Amino acid sequence: MKWKSAVQQLKPYQPGKSIQEVKRQYGLESITKLASNENPYGSSEAVKESVRNFSDSLAIYPDGYATLMRTTVANHVGVKETELIFGNGSDEIIQIISRSLLHPTRNTVLAAPTFPQYRHNAVIEGAEIREVELIDGAHDLTGMLAQIDENTSVVWLCTPNNPTGVYIPSADLIDFLDRVPEDVLVVIDEAYFEYVEADDYPDSVKLIESYKNLIVLRTFSKIYGLASLRIGYGIANEEIIRMLEPAREPFNTNTMGQLSAISAIGDQEFVAKCKQENRKGLQQYYRFCEEENLSYYPSQGNFILIDFGTDGDEVFQFLLERGFIVRSGNALGFPSSVRVTVGSPEQNDGIIAIMKEYLASKNREGAKMQ
Ligand SMILES: *Cc1c(COP(=O)(O)O)cnc(C)c1O
Repeated sequence: MKWKSAVQQLKPYQPGKSIQEVKRQYGLESITKLASNENPYGSSEAVKESVRNFSDSLAIYPDGYATLMRTTVANHVGVKETELIFGNGSDEIIQIISRSLLHPTRNTVLAAPTFPQYRHNAVIEGAEIREVELIDGAHDLTGMLAQIDENTSVVWLCTPNNPTGVYIPSADLIDFLDRVPEDVLVVIDEAYFEYVEADDYPDSVKLIESYKNLIVLRTFSKIYGLASLRIGYGIANEEIIRMLEPAREPFNTNTMGQLSAISAIGDQEFVAKCKQENRKGLQQYYRFCEEENLSYYPSQGNFILIDFGTDGDEVFQFLLERGFIVRSGNALGFPSSVRVTVGSPEQNDGIIAIMKEYLASKNREGAKMQ
């Protein structure tokens, strides 16, 4: 078969073990998954209500233009309906951007480590990938600028960055945008936007007016708790949206997802509550790290990357056998860390107790060796 050479070198996404499998393997009663930055409070009651009342025929295609959801999101974000593109998760918007702008004679600039889908899609399109190491968990914007040349078509910024949780301050972003050539698309992935508290976090939606080469990505998968319904969106000026639309599948967002997103936006009280609880949860982890002298990045997201100074896979395995699933930093470019999603106060207490057990066991090991 004449496969694209890029495709031959890629591995399919490795889904984690199923909860059932882990329970059986380790004889556990319950498992807490703090691995995928899902909302521990689920989704708004309003969403559950609309799913219960769902009465549209399953035989009918969804509204390909997502008209009602489009109006709702446009009003909520404060942009025109023509300044939005919807995707089957923001993952699909990343794919649409890549299909539209990347190919073997182009290059793309991104941070490392960051969200893996930028790189993954660039590989499929055969574009040259220029990765710029993070500095203290933050994008090295100067380094990224230096990598941009006349063949660069897309620059990816993830803020807050997954997996570090570090964000790009407004002044730095604007300075960067001022220096990027106008024919290079800058993608700002704001999957954790609703969790951010920093005062100097940029109002990037305002920036789409002045910077015609900017697209902002948001999602209903994180704070809104709709990861299973797959709705994400991009915000950009009309020209960019018009150019991206042909690469979008006609019925890419589903009817239940569209209706649920509308209900979810209607319940901002739920969003505010989740944000507030997330802040408190982060404090639990900060306290733990300080007590145990572990280094971490202060996070603007709903996750925290903690450096145990040992093998991340070992920490992962220790936690797994005791009922907690996290992401090992090994797969994320931080081999001595794990990334933990902030859960409910009880879940956080639970996993922190096990992490303390792990550290105590390491201390005993260390004492024995001496
Ligand atoms: C979770 C996540 C996404 C993907 O979100 P979906 O809308 O579920 O596809 C995109 N970007 C980042 C940085 C994420 O962490």
